[in-house]
Amino acid sequence: MLVRGGVLVDADGEREGDLLTGPDGRIAATGPPGSLQPRPGDEVHDATGKLVVPGGIDAHTHLHLPVGAVRVSDDFTSGTRAAAVGGTTAIIDYVTPRRGEDPLAALATWRRWAEPSAVDWALHLTFTEAVPEEVVAKGVEAGVTSFKLYMAYPDRLMVDDETIVSLMTAGRRHGALVTLHCENGGAIEALRRQALAEGRTAIIEHARTRPAVLEGEAVSRAAALAEVTGAAIYIVHLSSAPALAAVRTAQERGVDVQVETCPQYLYLDTGRLEGPDAPDFVCTPPLRDPWHGEELWEGLARGWVHTVATDHCPFWREDRRAGVAGRPGGAADFTEVPGGLPGLQTRMALVWEGVRAGRITRADWVRLCCEAPARTFGLWPAKGSLSPGSDADVVVWDPARRQSLGAGDLDMATDHSPYEGMVATGWPELVLCRGRVVAREGRFVGEPGWGRYVARQPLTPR
Ligand SMILES: [Zn+2]
Repeated sequence: MLVRGGVLVDADGEREGDLLTGPDGRIAATGPPGSLQPRPGDEVHDATGKLVVPGGIDAHTHLHLPVGAVRVSDDFTSGTRAAAVGGTTAIIDYVTPRRGEDPLAALATWRRWAEPSAVDWALHLTFTEAVPEEVVAKGVEAGVTSFKLYMAYPDRLMVDDETIVSLMTAGRRHGALVTLHCENGGAIEALRRQALAEGRTAIIEHARTRPAVLEGEAVSRAAALAEVTGAAIYIVHLSSAPALAAVRTAQERGVDVQVETCPQYLYLDTGRLEGPDAPDFVCTPPLRDPWHGEELWEGLARGWVHTVATDHCPFWREDRRAGVAGRPGGAADFTEVPGGLPGLQTRMALVWEGVRAGRITRADWVRLCCEAPARTFGLWPAKGSLSPGSDADVVVWDPARRQSLGAGDLDMATDHSPYEGMVATGWPELVLCRGRVVAREGRFVGEPGWGRYVARQPLTPR
């Protein structure tokens, strides 16, 4: 395909030009307008007035995931289809073993679940308890070069500081990045129990029992542990100002800490946790007061926050109200509502809204959504780049195209949208994954199984 006359935006900057994809699914050439000719049989796509950018990479998704008595509503088939339409051509999903389950067996299960993906996919591996160093080494050999540790959810996911230190050390030795869910799980558990004992069961208590200061504490602790082990760390779904302040302090003293935030923390606030729709807005960390979002936008513009991912983890409305325990009559209190929001399809458009609002530049948008996740997670330069030789994962972005973000107008398997009533201005008109058109004019035209597993490169061991 020859994409002609657009404005190319990637790590090399912005320039008007053409882009030619090759029969091998890679970018064959880019050049000034009019400099490239189609080969016989090539489609020529006129991108005048449009941006041509690398395919989006969502570095934080949960597809197919079982949670108690329920399951995330999107599987790899529906989730990656929605990703394609929204301009995301690669995802990195979290393998989440139960305690007692062999992490490598869980990895094999996820690889099987992910087979029908319509866009490319890679995996992170979560450790919910101490594992032998050999497991880390085997993960890295299989192309899983990041693993996740939870500092929250003591009942099923949290690991203690001793385990964090040994796994950070193993990560450093084997070239794996350690990603962390930072909240003080022990303190939160006590606050939740107190709330229930006092009869405070409403959804708003989800936010009140997980205050931002306990996210800041966990970020400080994670950074201190990274400092003593020399590990490279990545904080997932940073949601608050105290957490960002803790990141800044660590970055200033030279700790290798990268940060992700998600659109829900930029656009939604605690007000959503009251009223009949409140269960639809439960996610962890919880939504915060609006001023935290303002600080996160500044962090994105200044480069303190490196990526925007989604933590895509949708549930049907009915399942949210039934609760993770599957109790007849529904969830008894806020602690039983499965947490997580849909977002895989709307990420590129929501971050683009920040460009329209003058909060970030379009170069920032490409860096946050495409380039930085590729570099951070060992996918660069095959992904996240428009250079010749990179995969032809390409989005032709129409900055004027209007798209409703209501659930009925999107492809994610969900019956509610956190952005119901919002119309985005800016949406893909064409999306290529390794040279194949997977979405056109807002419609999915790809095929299940087109997506390939991508083995990621390790960090340079230190
Ligand atoms: Zn997550």
